[in-house]
Amino acid sequence: MSMNNQGRPSRPEDIEVQSVTTFTGNRALQIEEPLIFETGHMAATGVDLPEPKGTTSRLGGLERKSSMNLPGLAEPEAMRHFVRLSQKNYAIDMGPFPLGSCTMKHNPRLNEKMARLPGFADIHPLQPVSTVQGALELIDTLAGWLKELTAMPAVAMSPKAGAHGELCGMVTIKAALEARGEAETRTRVLAPESAHGTNPATAAQCGFTVDGIPADETGRVDIEAFKAKLGPDVAAIMVTNPNTCGLFERDIREMADAVHEAGGYFYCDGANFNAIVGKVKPGDLGIDAMHINLHKTFSTPHGGGGPGSGPTVLSAALAPFAPIPYVVSDEDGFHLVEKRSQEEGDHHSFGRMTAFHGQMGMFVRALSYMLSHGGDGLRQAAEDAVLNANYVLARLSEEMTPAFEGTCMHEALFNDDFLKDTGVGTLDFAKAMIDEGYHPMTMYFPLVVHGAMLIEPTETESKHELDLFCDALLSLAKEAKAGNADKFKAAPVLAPRRRLDETAAARKPVLRWEPSDDKSMAAE
Ligand SMILES: *Cc1c(COP(=O)(O)O)cnc(C)c1O
Repeated sequence: MSMNNQGRPSRPEDIEVQSVTTFTGNRALQIEEPLIFETGHMAATGVDLPEPKGTTSRLGGLERKSSMNLPGLAEPEAMRHFVRLSQKNYAIDMGPFPLGSCTMKHNPRLNEKMARLPGFADIHPLQPVSTVQGALELIDTLAGWLKELTAMPAVAMSPKAGAHGELCGMVTIKAALEARGEAETRTRVLAPESAHGTNPATAAQCGFTVDGIPADETGRVDIEAFKAKLGPDVAAIMVTNPNTCGLFERDIREMADAVHEAGGYFYCDGANFNAIVGKVKPGDLGIDAMHINLHKTFSTPHGGGGPGSGPTVLSAALAPFAPIPYVVSDEDGFHLVEKRSQEEGDHHSFGRMTAFHGQMGMFVRALSYMLSHGGDGLRQAAEDAVLNANYVLARLSEEMTPAFEGTCMHEALFNDDFLKDTGVGTLDFAKAMIDEGYHPMTMYFPLVVHGAMLIEPTETESKHELDLFCDALLSLAKEAKAGNADKFKAAPVLAPRRRLDETAAARKPVLRWEPSDDKSMAAE
């Protein structure tokens, strides 16, 4: 019996695994899953109801005449299909998810239980407000926590993702510039070259031109280059802190003062708030607008298209332009300001971001997380996240090359120098991690680091889990240096699929099934 590196029995090595073929195409209990159209047949049905008697159609002749071509399945077939599909998606509930910049942390089951309470799960956004007072109170309470944690006077709750929150912040800035009569002249937005792609995309979407700020040799904004770019046409800067290299921007106050002096606003990308929550308040740093990814900092699962939520905190200068709807309260309870004509005082909302109030389910999960952790628990989560990342940075530095000197915040960034002359690239290294049972880290981002590998363990992982992860990566790094490039080029060999043409999948997606489609095409 052969043993794995942890001393437990593993598969006998006398059979070449890749050469084993099976009749079904399944690999042990990894089941090949056909499309539901290929599984089902029109004649089958999961329900068996008698034709209703004595009803007359009220559709006035608009009934569908042709078949809908929906595949029929028995209930167990339908159940198995969707359960198997769900198992093909790697999840934080299955193992570590080291994606940097994504903060993939454990989502406590308590959050799920709260979000499923009928009073939250079964309400409708068009219900009379008198019947949803509790839900509005929850939104208001969560808003209160967000304002407290950020020391900002206002928060727009409706944005539904980080990128959406950025859009909210930048549209708010545009509205404030319009009110000052400077929307025509202030057209340039500064963003570091290491910025997440959503930053320049958002600025461009709002009609601004984007001007990149270079990084200095420590991986932070080059403050002199930044100041040199300020001028009367600058609308705003967009800076992430901690930045996408996992480093704290130490000159952030100086940047804030400089952009304010130049008449611009300071947008901060708050996606990395998990590293500083409970430690630093963005409002104390001179920030005017910052989105918070509830689905990163305050648990709540995301990825694979799952829901996000990106409330955007606003400074006093921007608060009057916040989007509708928003919750207000008085002695009669909670109310929604849904129209501009209902606004009071100096409120001049720029308008609406979404049809309704935001992602209610995510609000419930985030508030559950906050209340169960408390202020001290949130601070501890940030401290543990930074500690875990530095542990990974220190251990992996034995074989891998850190992109910058010194300690990091919540994520550890490596370049591909350690793979130089090995014939192994960042992509190959990441694919070999899949064979080891690890979801790869973020690759080739941020763009300012060659062959970047960005690892964010979060506070979720135990020392045992981190050690196993580091041991696996160190062993891969040693193998790459030992000249074992072929193994890396072939990886992943143990996954049901090897390397897919990701570019073709993104550029020419096959989204529609036609009965005549070649099945092998659909599966590839
Ligand atoms: C995740 C992330 C975003 C975008 O957030 P989404 O919720 O995915 O839209 C923006 N900036 C940074 C730095 C991020 O990590």
